[in-house]
Amino acid sequence: MERAEAQKRIQQLKDSLRENSRLYYVDNAPVISDFEYDSLMHELEALEAEYPEFLTPDSPTQHVGSDLETQGMGVNAESSIRREFVQRPHKYPMLSLSNTYSISEVEEFSARADKALDTAFTYCCELKFDGTAICLTYKDGKLVQALTRGDGVVGDDVTENARQISNIPHQLTGDYPPEFEIRGEILMPYASFDALNEERARNEEAPFANPRNAASGSLKLIDPREVAHRGLMCTLYHIPAQSLDFPSHDDALNAARSWGLPVSGERRLCRNIGEIKAYIDYWDTARKKLPFATDGIVIKINEMAYQRALGYTAKSPRWAVAFKFKAEQALTPILSIDYQVGRTGAVTPVANLEPVLLSGTIVKRATLVNEDQMRALDIHEGDSVYVEKGGEIIPKITAVEKSLRKAGAPVPEFPGLCPDCGTPLVRAEDEAKWFCPNSDGCPMQIKGKLLHFTSRKAMDILAGDATVEQLYNLGLARTPADLYDLRPHQLLSLEGWKEKSALRFRSSLDASLAVPFERVLFALGIRYVGETTAKELARHFGSIDALAAASKEELLAVPDVGDVIADSVFAFFRNPAHLAAIDRLKAHGLRFSVEEDAARTSDVLSGKTIVISGTFSISRDEMKALIEHNGGKNSGSISGKTSFLLAGEKPGPEKLRKCEELGVPVMGEAEFMAMLPASQAVGSGDTYEQLSLF
Ligand code: NAD
Repeated sequence: MERAEAQKRIQQLKDSLRENSRLYYVDNAPVISDFEYDSLMHELEALEAEYPEFLTPDSPTQHVGSDLETQGMGVNAESSIRREFVQRPHKYPMLSLSNTYSISEVEEFSARADKALDTAFTYCCELKFDGTAICLTYKDGKLVQALTRGDGVVGDDVTENARQISNIPHQLTGDYPPEFEIRGEILMPYASFDALNEERARNEEAPFANPRNAASGSLKLIDPREVAHRGLMCTLYHIPAQSLDFPSHDDALNAARSWGLPVSGERRLCRNIGEIKAYIDYWDTARKKLPFATDGIVIKINEMAYQRALGYTAKSPRWAVAFKFKAEQALTPILSIDYQVGRTGAVTPVANLEPVLLSGTIVKRATLVNEDQMRALDIHEGDSVYVEKGGEIIPKITAVEKSLRKAGAPVPEFPGLCPDCGTPLVRAEDEAKWFCPNSDGCPMQIKGKLLHFTSRKAMDILAGDATVEQLYNLGLARTPADLYDLRPHQLLSLEGWKEKSALRFRSSLDASLAVPFERVLFALGIRYVGETTAKELARHFGSIDALAAASKEELLAVPDVGDVIADSVFAFFRNPAHLAAIDRLKAHGLRFSVEEDAARTSDVLSGKTIVISGTFSISRDEMKALIEHNGGKNSGSISGKTSFLLAGEKPGPEKLRKCEELGVPVMGEAEFMAMLPASQAVGSGDTYEQLSLF
C-alpha cells in the first residue's frame, strides 16, 4: 500500500473503531460483530507497525475502549441509565487482553513465553466470561467500592448497584486480608436475559443485542432497586499482584474463594500447549451448556514472578492472551419478508428463512430491524444470508452471500401502506422506523394494545394471543374497558372455552382491580412510557387527573422525562377517545391514583426490608407489589438489615445459607399471608373456584 493511501486508511480505521467503540461501550448497542471489530483493530495494528510515523498516542490500538458516559455522546439503549456516576481513579490500571481467533497465534504466545522465561512454568486456563468488567475493593472484610473499567484509568463508581448483585458478598468470611482489590466480570445469565428482552419487547423497547450489553446497561441503571431485579451475577478472576502478593494466580483465586468470594471452579493448570488446546477443545463444546455467555478462553502465565518478568503493553498484559470463539454462523435463503406492525404502529421487517440449525436451535425467522438496515445489508429477494446469534441468542442477519444471488433478483420494496389496515405509513425525521399512524383503527395495533394491557407486568389478566385474537375477531373487544364488560355467554362462545376457563378469566379481571396505579398507567400503553417511567409519573403526579392536566413543562420536571416522553404523554391525554376509555375503566373500579392504592392497603410491613426467594402461588412481581402495598421494602440481597426472607418453593440455597449465617429469620408464604389484612390475599389463585359466574 502506498504511504498516502495507508495514512488515509489508518484515519478511516481509527474513525470507525472510535464510533463502534462508543456504540458498544457507552450505548450498549453494537452494530457490527466482535469479529468484524477485531478484524478492523488488527488491520490498524498491522498498518501502524508498517508505518510507525502514523502511530499516535490517541489511537484505539493504544488504550482500552471506554465505558465512561460522556456528555452528548448519543442515546443510550436504556432511558433509565444514569450519566452522572461519580468517577474514581483505579489504584492500578485496568487493562484489556490481547486477543486472537487463531490457535496458531496461541501457539506463538506460548513459544514466546517459553523463550522469554527459559524455565519451567505453568499456565492457568480459564473461561472468558462475556460480561462487563468490575473492580471490587474490600476493607476489613466489607465491600467498600465497585468501579467499572471506565477508560482503564478512572472508572464509574457503581458500588450501590454492585451491592444489589446477590452473589457479591457485602461481608467476607474466613481469614481475609485487611484491604485488597479483586477484579472480575458482571454477567447476565441467559434466563435473566431472555426474561428482560421479553419484557422489553412487550414494552416495545429495543431488545439488548446480547447478555454482555444487557449486563453492562443494567449495571448503570439509575435505581439500585431496579438492578436487583435484573438477575445479574458476578464471577471474579484476578487479584492484582500489587494488591496482594501470592506465589501464583491460582493460589490467589483459591484464597479469594475461601473468603466467600465467587470464583469460578472451571479453571485448569496446564503445562504445555497440548494441554491448553485440549482445554480449548473441551470448552468449545461444553460452554454451550453453561447458563451464561462465554466468548473464549483466557490463558495466563500462572506464577506471579513470571507475570512480573513479562510485564505489560500500554493496553494489555504480556503474560496473558484471550482465544476467542467465533460466533456460530449459518447460511440460508430468505423465503419471504413479513412486515410486522407492533402496538405502537412501528413496522418491523422480518425475514422468513429456510429453517437452519444454529447453536442447537432451528432458526426460521430473523429480524431485518428497519428499512435502513435492509439497505445497508443490500438485501435482494431470495438472497442467501448469513445468520448469527448475537451473543448466541437472538438470530440476526449479518451479511448477504452475493455470489449466490440470482441474476436480476429485485430489491424488496418497503411497503408504503400499512400491511394490516392500508393506511399510508409515515416516518419522522429522527425515527429509524416507519409507522402506521392509524393507532386507534389498525387491527394489529388494537390487538397489540389489548395484549399489552393484559400482560403480566401490566394488569396480569389471563388473556394471551389466542384469546385476544378471538375476542377481536368476534367484535367483542376493541379497547381494554370492553374486557370488563364481557358477559358469561360471550365468553362461553369462544372456541375451546368452558365454564372453568371463563371463571379463571373473570377471577383475573377481579384481581386486576387491585393492581396499583403505576401499573395501570403502564398498561394504558402510552408510547415511550415503560414500567419505570410509569412509576415515576405515578409518584410525581399522584393521579391520572393530575397527569392528564399537566403541561409539557410540568411533565419535563419529572426525573428521566425528556422531550420525547413529555410530547407523547401530553398528546395522549389530548385525544378524547383516550379520555373516554379511561372514564370507562374508572367506572369499572381500576385504580387511578396513589391515594386509592393507599386506601386499599395496610402498613403492617412498614419498616420491614424483605427479600423473596423461590416460587409462590402468585407471581414474584405480585408478591413484591403486595409487600410494597403493605408498607414493606423489597431488597434483592440478604444483609444484616434484612427483616426476614420470604421463602416460597425451592428458595435459593445461597440465600438460605446467608440467612443462617447472619441470623435472618425465614418465613413461609402461608405465615406471611396470615400477617396481611384478609382482603390482601388477592391473586392467590384460590379464590376463583368460589366465585359465582358474574
Ligand atoms: P475483551 O472483552 O476482548 O477481553 C478483555 C476482557 O475480558 C477483560 O477486560 C475482562 O473484562 C474480560 N474477561 C473475561 N473473563 C476473563 C478472565 N477469565 N480473565 C481475565 N479477563 C477476563 O476486551 P475488552 O477490552 O473488554 O473489549 C474489547 C473487545 O470488545 C474487542 O476485542 C471486541 O471483541 C469487543 N468490541 C466490539 C465492538 C463491536 O462493535 N462489536 C466494539 C468495541 C469492542
